[in-house]
Amino acid sequence: MIIWEINKPFINKLPTEIRKHPREKLKELSGRGTVISTTTGETNVFAYSKAFIICCPFCRKFLYTSFESVDAYEHDISACPKCGAIDPFENSITRLQNATIITDLAIVLAKNTPSDTTVANILLEQGVVIIISALEEFLKDVYFALMNITYVKPHRTLLNYFEKSTHNNFIDPGNAFVAIKKDIGIDFRGLMKEDDYKTLILFSKIRHIIVHNSCRADINYLNQTHVPDISIGDKIYISSHDVQLLNKIVIKLLKNCQKEYNKLIWDDLVQNIRSNGYLNDKLNFIFNNTYR
Ligand SMILES: [Zn+2]
Repeated sequence: MIIWEINKPFINKLPTEIRKHPREKLKELSGRGTVISTTTGETNVFAYSKAFIICCPFCRKFLYTSFESVDAYEHDISACPKCGAIDPFENSITRLQNATIITDLAIVLAKNTPSDTTVANILLEQGVVIIISALEEFLKDVYFALMNITYVKPHRTLLNYFEKSTHNNFIDPGNAFVAIKKDIGIDFRGLMKEDDYKTLILFSKIRHIIVHNSCRADINYLNQTHVPDISIGDKIYISSHDVQLLNKIVIKLLKNCQKEYNKLIWDDLVQNIRSNGYLNDKLNFIFNNTYR
């Protein structure tokens, strides 16, 4: 998690001795009745502002900020205003939802045109690609963020260095789990049932042949998976059940990983509040509910 609204429940979650500063910031930054000018030139529109604290594990900015809006608009502040990073979990869950939409569409198509399932097959293949890519991005983001907060000085980042050093290793979730365990000490694989892990690894290999070999079994795929009744050059058919199962496994994994990730991100936030090395930044008001 990168962005927190400063409110009473948030303050009460903090250790008692560090609540004073966020409490003062809440008073300073939030309120109602500010006179603002709109982009269309109107004035005297009454707005309210909410206070936020942003502790970004990617760019390492730690800032207090407020965001004004007219009452009718809900705040939409999910990305770091300094580097644009969003929470890795939210990012991946959105993509997994897209995979569900594609799978549902494939099921309808297959029902409507049972004699020709070409399009449905393409959609299901893309469902696998989306899910495994979403997991890859999630594990990368979590790894980069946790490497930053574990090994790099406060307010500094080695994001580019970590990005380069992982190369394409995280395409294989097994490699990603090993790196995260070795470098950060969290055993994501241990959070999975063995059968789920095997299914995940199998589909990461299938994703590879979808992308690189038109979903036909090659020698590497056969050597790595030992799937029976498949020969070199055979087409691998993905069922809607396969994609649904894979989606379920990855969502479960992401939720378990997120708990571990959030604990460390929260510890970093507490450290930052304790050290008080913050920035103040007022985000500009914009009517269409975005900010700059
Ligand atoms: Zn950032």
